[in-house]
Amino acid sequence: MHEYPVTREFINIAARKAREANARRVTRICLVVGEQSGFAPESLQMYFEMIAEGTVCENAELEITTVKTQWYCPRCDAPYARRPLSFACPRCGRDGEPTSVGGEFYVDRIEVAE
Ligand SMILES: [Zn+2]
Repeated sequence: MHEYPVTREFINIAARKAREANARRVTRICLVVGEQSGFAPESLQMYFEMIAEGTVCENAELEITTVKTQWYCPRCDAPYARRPLSFACPRCGRDGEPTSVGGEFYVDRIEVAE
């Protein structure tokens, strides 16, 4: 549900870019979405189709690149990928801490057509 406003926002960004380029439509929007961003790719896709209808973004391809959350172990001074149901570092077994990697949410690229 909270994907609705951010979807409207990136559609507006893409529409503005199309206007600036004197393009008639947006053909592709590439988003980078971290696992920890709180935004679900399938909801973004659903709202995108709903909101883009009737705009220059209608029928544009929404390409979503997801980023896995990266954890950090202070003891080993090394990053690691968390395994399901565990926060433990795979080297020493102690619980590490989440890093900012995986919290991304941004528009990476917008493609338009004449
Ligand atoms: Zn460790």
